[in-house]
Amino acid sequence: MNVIELKCVKKTYYLEELDVPVLHGIDLTIEQGEFVAIMGHSGSGKSTLLNILGLLDKHSEGSYKLAGIEISKYSDNELAALRNHYLGFVFQQFNLLPKLTILENVALPSMYSVSKDVQQHEDPAKLLEIVGLSERITHRPSEISGGQQQRVAIARALINKPLIIFADEPTGNLDTKSTKEIIKILKDLNSSGITIVMVTHELELTTYATRIIKVQDGIILSDEKTESESASVSKHNSSQFKRKNPFLLARIKDYCVQAFGSLTGNKMRSILSILGVMIGVASLIAMLAVGTGAKKSIEDQVSGLGSNLLMISSGSPQKQGNSYDAGFRIRILEEDIRDLEINIPEIEDEGIVGYITVRGQVVAKGNNCNTRVEGVSPNFPKTRVSHPILGRFFTKDEDNLRAKVVVLGKTVVKEIFGNEDFNPVGEYIKINRIDFQIIGVLPTKGSKGYGDEDDKVLIPLNTAMYRFAGSKELHYLEVQVKDGADMNKVGEDIKTRLLFTHRLPSSERDAVRVINMAEIQAAMEAMGKAFSLLLGSIAFISLLVGGIGIMNIMFVSVSERTKEIGLRKAIGANNMDILFQFIIESIFVCCVGGLIGIIVGAGISFIISKFADWDTIITPFSIILGFCFSVFIGLIFGVWPARKASLLNPIDALRHD
Ligand code: ADP
Ligand code: MG
Repeated sequence: MNVIELKCVKKTYYLEELDVPVLHGIDLTIEQGEFVAIMGHSGSGKSTLLNILGLLDKHSEGSYKLAGIEISKYSDNELAALRNHYLGFVFQQFNLLPKLTILENVALPSMYSVSKDVQQHEDPAKLLEIVGLSERITHRPSEISGGQQQRVAIARALINKPLIIFADEPTGNLDTKSTKEIIKILKDLNSSGITIVMVTHELELTTYATRIIKVQDGIILSDEKTESESASVSKHNSSQFKRKNPFLLARIKDYCVQAFGSLTGNKMRSILSILGVMIGVASLIAMLAVGTGAKKSIEDQVSGLGSNLLMISSGSPQKQGNSYDAGFRIRILEEDIRDLEINIPEIEDEGIVGYITVRGQVVAKGNNCNTRVEGVSPNFPKTRVSHPILGRFFTKDEDNLRAKVVVLGKTVVKEIFGNEDFNPVGEYIKINRIDFQIIGVLPTKGSKGYGDEDDKVLIPLNTAMYRFAGSKELHYLEVQVKDGADMNKVGEDIKTRLLFTHRLPSSERDAVRVINMAEIQAAMEAMGKAFSLLLGSIAFISLLVGGIGIMNIMFVSVSERTKEIGLRKAIGANNMDILFQFIIESIFVCCVGGLIGIIVGAGISFIISKFADWDTIITPFSIILGFCFSVFIGLIFGVWPARKASLLNPIDALRHD
């Protein structure tokens, strides 16, 4: 029976600039049981021929029948299955996988075989016994000699009971003694009925061969049978070859074992990959947490402002001492409040609050704190919607009488009395050495980090005027405009009225400044958005950096493993097998990295909120985003290079270094 039938097979390498014709029409028939030695000068095309025979490479023209099957029309995956089923390979470079034990190396091809039937495979331990290595089965390839490695490679070639073994200069890297051993093993295999096709330089090896083919410049120069007789035709399985691809699911467990093996086999690389994903995801989670917290805190602050307020102040900057020299300037007085209330109908009743703000030292019970002391009109709780949560606000009478009463903000309560839930109403405190009675506590405005709205005390406007400021001038007015009124028009009316009552020319509009709180709100909202955008882009950049890190590692690891991919393909793995193993590897890396990243990110946010006193909020969105990101990274950066490698010709991948 002819196991190999070549008719006019040609091979041309198509390189970028030129075509390199290597084989110029080879006709060759090899019968079962032959031991063929292919000889010839270096560069004559021996390896090219052998790779084509072994289905590692494709011929350009002609017909090739392997075991009676015309293989020219076969797909890559079918060829992989054919290699696995019929062929064994022994390479000059041994090509064992360094991270697997010798036993695992030998067993590797059985993983990719079409049938999981044990009868179809040899027992790897038994094969290692045959090649004399039964004591070394748990060792790694790096722990044994070259000759021993080649014996392992032969055992591996035998695992699926092949019809033919191809060997390309199997003794090229070995000393004389090992060479003899290898040849002896090959001879014994041949005697047991396996066809052997071997490329060799050494004449003395050819004494064992039953046939010597000399190749020169891509053609067969001579082809002679020697004295040695062919082995008796074997009882080798002539079971019909199945073209269908094996069911992938059945191999998932094998893939996981392989993936896990290569991850633990290269711990540093795995840890670095996991670290890369982790950093990306952790920074994403932390940044989003801080950003969301900051945005919420700004929103809280904004909503505490009231949107229908106008702030009226004197136009030119207030100078301490001599403030009358800078052109036209208005001194806003308490009389202006009454005048505006009467003359501008769009202003809410009792909708104007005058302010005088000074810094003050607040002392009680040996504690003291420096805080903002605001003298305000009694309307304050109404316009600011800020009614005391404990006690009461001061009355008009108390204001007129310049009473020494004070309403505290929460932060001040906490600093003076040590506990913000303490009820200080009725207690006395000193503000700048003057005794005041506490009559109320303000509700929390709840903002942190950007100027504390609760770090203040309120006293009656007149008290502030006469006891602290020493001047009747108000620092600014807050005017509550009736719902539906045009804020800008009311602002202009107020300006006009103030210029009129202060006897300034109506053209001097800069002497009064009107600030629309709605505009401030909009500005702060924009600021909040800009802030989370900023954090978002920082997070994005760190993701990118993390992603590029992973990509580097994956690229290095795939190109480092192209040889491994080539070997796996040579012994029968198809493209999906390769892809699946890498998908499982990188998904595992990215999921582990992603999960650790989420935990670390949450930890970082917690630490930030504890130590920087910033609210951080971790949303389910950011967790999902982080996790999806890590899986995405894994698929893109892990699978893309692997896919590229899996599409290579087995021989091209094997030659890679
Ligand atoms: P050898 O008989 O020494 O094993 P090869 O079969 O390896 O020779 O190579 C035969 C010729 O084909 C050589 O001239 C070599 O340059 C060329 N060749 C081999 N592989 C390739 C390739 N991948 N691309 C281009 N040319 C190649
Ligand atoms: Mg060669």
